Amino acid sequence: MTKFSIPFNKPYATGQELGYMQQAIANGHISGDGAFTKKCHTFFETALAVKKALLTTSCTHALEMSAILADIQPGDEVIVPSFTFVTSINAFVLRGAKPVFCDIRPDTLNLDETKLEALITDRTKAIVPVHYAGVACDMDAITAIAQRHGIVVIEDNAHGLFSKYKGRYLGTIGHMATQSFHETKNVTCGEGGALLINDSAFIERAEIIREKGTNRSRFFRGQVDKYTWVDIGSSYLPSDLLAAYLYAQLEAIDDIQARRQRIWDYYQAHLPEWAQTHNVTLPTIPADCEQSYHMYYMLLPSLEVRQELIAHLKSFGILTVFHYLPLHLSDMGRKYGGQTGDCPVTEDVSDRLLRLPFYNDLTEADQEKVIAGLFSFEGW
Ligand SMILES: *Cc1c(COP(=O)(O)O)cnc(C)c1O
Repeated sequence: MTKFSIPFNKPYATGQELGYMQQAIANGHISGDGAFTKKCHTFFETALAVKKALLTTSCTHALEMSAILADIQPGDEVIVPSFTFVTSINAFVLRGAKPVFCDIRPDTLNLDETKLEALITDRTKAIVPVHYAGVACDMDAITAIAQRHGIVVIEDNAHGLFSKYKGRYLGTIGHMATQSFHETKNVTCGEGGALLINDSAFIERAEIIREKGTNRSRFFRGQVDKYTWVDIGSSYLPSDLLAAYLYAQLEAIDDIQARRQRIWDYYQAHLPEWAQTHNVTLPTIPADCEQSYHMYYMLLPSLEVRQELIAHLKSFGILTVFHYLPLHLSDMGRKYGGQTGDCPVTEDVSDRLLRLPFYNDLTEADQEKVIAGLFSFEGW
């Protein structure tokens, strides 16, 4: 493996993680739903004002829970942007859903709400908007369409913790939302996630599904006198050791977000002139969106230029990466009928998108090197 002096991502630690993990051990409770898990739940329920937050072992598992909660049955259709991570849809396919791929908007790279209604059939059960780079989808339009057809909205908010849409936190708008605390996300515990629930009708069943299909949570609250198997479910709760790690990061959220904003603003301040002269498109943040500073991406003129630029930066020890391949053209997507031309914006953007190094510890000096590397590229 090549060693990069400026990697694409570096896992971040505040310094408080080990101390909290030791405290979890001292508490004598390192399985799920211990003291630190409760602190994390309270943090999200307070900071975001969601009805219920439940830590999970990953965003993928939170999506699986949401698929069960939305009562996805074999043959039901779930609409998802083609430009997203595999599990945004695989969690639903696991329950027998047929994926229906929607194209994205050329400006925010989010699900194109103008193409949504044409994809709805009487089998459509859920819509999964993904807030790409933590910039909100047009949730008013999506919510209105979903309401008209009685469809559940599950926000895949893996990128958008503490982003806002028209003043509202992302993750608080759909019936449910999922967060990721994977090493590559703004706040991490290595592998982890959360399910946020805004429609209280889903809360009790969510607790059961997360606890292997048992009513264990009610038992511990003294609401039932024995706990037993009551529904389908799995083991979706993380160890309190991971919750302890995560809580250290949540306590430092203001510092983490300030660091990321500085990094994003630095790229955004130094690249526009170069971008304009080289036909490069920089990110668009609509006026009604406050972003989470999750990533910095750009669209290059062509696939060839992008690949040459990646190689050029690699020669300076700088790792830049592309992102999602169109899901409708993947092996699985094609099995469900996906064909070239179905989602033209996704197909185009996927070839031309490049992400720059972005992590909480990235220094301005290293960002200068990234920018100098970009400016020295002549393969246009
Ligand atoms: C990271 C990510 C996921 C999966 O998160 P895990 O916690 O690794 O399961 C899902 N959706 C999107 C959009 C992501 O970026």
